[in-house]
Amino acid sequence: MENSSDVRDVLERIHELQLQLVELNGRLRRGALLLKSQAAAIQKNETALQTVTSEYQKLHAYAKQKELEVAQNDLNLAKRKEQLREAKTNKEYQALQLQISADEAARGVLDDEALEAIEKAEKFHANVESANQELNKSRELYENTKSRYAESKPKIESDIAAVNELLTKEEVKLPREFKEIYDRLVRSMGGGESLAVVENQRYCGACNHQIPINSLAIIMQKKPITCSSCARLLYIPKDFVFEKG
Ligand SMILES: [Zn+2]
Repeated sequence: MENSSDVRDVLERIHELQLQLVELNGRLRRGALLLKSQAAAIQKNETALQTVTSEYQKLHAYAKQKELEVAQNDLNLAKRKEQLREAKTNKEYQALQLQISADEAARGVLDDEALEAIEKAEKFHANVESANQELNKSRELYENTKSRYAESKPKIESDIAAVNELLTKEEVKLPREFKEIYDRLVRSMGGGESLAVVENQRYCGACNHQIPINSLAIIMQKKPITCSSCARLLYIPKDFVFEKG
């Protein structure tokens, strides 16, 4: 019998269901937020990998170029040694000898440069590998979260539907003067913030504001009253004892 339902019981039940909805919706939202932040981490890691890869490619190209210079220097040296054997004049011979010793000196420097460049590129490649690992890890994490979310989402959604159904059944039991205030609060503050229980005989359970004795008297008369501080519709706990003054 709906008319015989005590408004206090109905308000308490509605509050409980509203809080369940807040919790369930929170789980959905947190899941979606986690997915979003993990997707963003993947993007960040992709960019990081691109950056170190292009840096590595530059170092690698530089090392290759140095190796080419060494090879070119070797070719020049061989050519001049050949020319030296075929030199016709003393002047030509001397000029070639000078050239050869210059090339030989240059070869030592070029060799060192090439080795250094190769080492640098090889060492830097560790950065590419770790960036790649980071990227793979973040992708794995995202996929795990995604499948866990996909698994839990339908269950949460069906729980939400079930709670909403129970809620509707309770809401229709509210007397009209309660219903009007309650509906307005749900619209403006959301269901989870629409109600508060009186705690420790005279404090708002949501904002801890002290409730005037007159307001408590109104509640005892089964009339609606809201907290003057947080605006929630107030109800008393089952074991409430009204103390005047
Ligand atoms: Zn309050």
